[in-house]
Amino acid sequence: RPSLKVEDLRVSIEGKEILKGFGIEVKGGEIHAIMGPNGTGKSTLASALMGHPKFEVTEGKASIDGEDLFEMEVDERARAGLFLAMQYPSEISGVTNADFIRSAINANREEGDEISLMKFIRKMDEKMGTLEMDDSFQHRYLNEGFSGGEKKRNEILQLMMLQPRIAILDEIDSGLDIDALKVVSKGINEMRSDDFGCLIITHYQRLLNYIKPDFVHVMMQGRIVKSGGPELAERLEAEGYDWIKEELGIED
Ligand code: ADP
Ligand code: MG
Ligand code: MG
Repeated sequence: RPSLKVEDLRVSIEGKEILKGFGIEVKGGEIHAIMGPNGTGKSTLASALMGHPKFEVTEGKASIDGEDLFEMEVDERARAGLFLAMQYPSEISGVTNADFIRSAINANREEGDEISLMKFIRKMDEKMGTLEMDDSFQHRYLNEGFSGGEKKRNEILQLMMLQPRIAILDEIDSGLDIDALKVVSKGINEMRSDDFGCLIITHYQRLLNYIKPDFVHVMMQGRIVKSGGPELAERLEAEGYDWIKEELGIED
């Protein structure tokens, strides 16, 4: 089973420490949700694991299947089985969505082991059906003129096509109407297997009405301050974050 392990991670941006001892382990078969108020470093975590150059890792470790992530180039992280939605470019003119996804799949495969065109087309048709996407999205240029919701749906298409071992999904639900939210959730739920672990980062609880996480973590001030099951997300929805701050004696 795949495993993503982050230990005591400290990350700074422009000299300011944002992540202050963050730790988590995500294994195959598990869906984890990280929730937390704005500005607590959730996206910083995703960017740091992705290898964004602006984010300086000052301490701690991150590994996938025991291999040090911070020793890998960004494309090596993908090849090791890590999927980060944001890792993929927002727009490339002149490259169709289908071509882009096919080369992303092949970039993760050995030379001579490329996916056949037939197999690719069949898989793409199937996944686009699940996500209720119009066929035209195959041939449109990547993300060009896609609405916010279409971009998110397309990110889930990339996820389903690439079949990574571990995925980190940051704010996959933001800007989605309820129908799009259901479809995106359906895609993620379909991915569930022992060979796949997922870390969902979200500000809102509503996504978790459709994707039942096994673990819910609350992040504040750059680290996880509380962990539990799905009931924790429900309590946050009902009561906000203040009770946790009080419990922990955290001041704003
Ligand atoms: P969240 O995703 O939890 O809302 P972020 O990780 O986006 O939080 O931001 C955490 C903190 O890091 C914020 O104070 C934010 O202003 C700061 N920050 C994030 N990205 C940058 C950046 N590119 N340059 C400078 N500061 C940043
Ligand atoms: Mg934010
Ligand atoms: Mg964020």
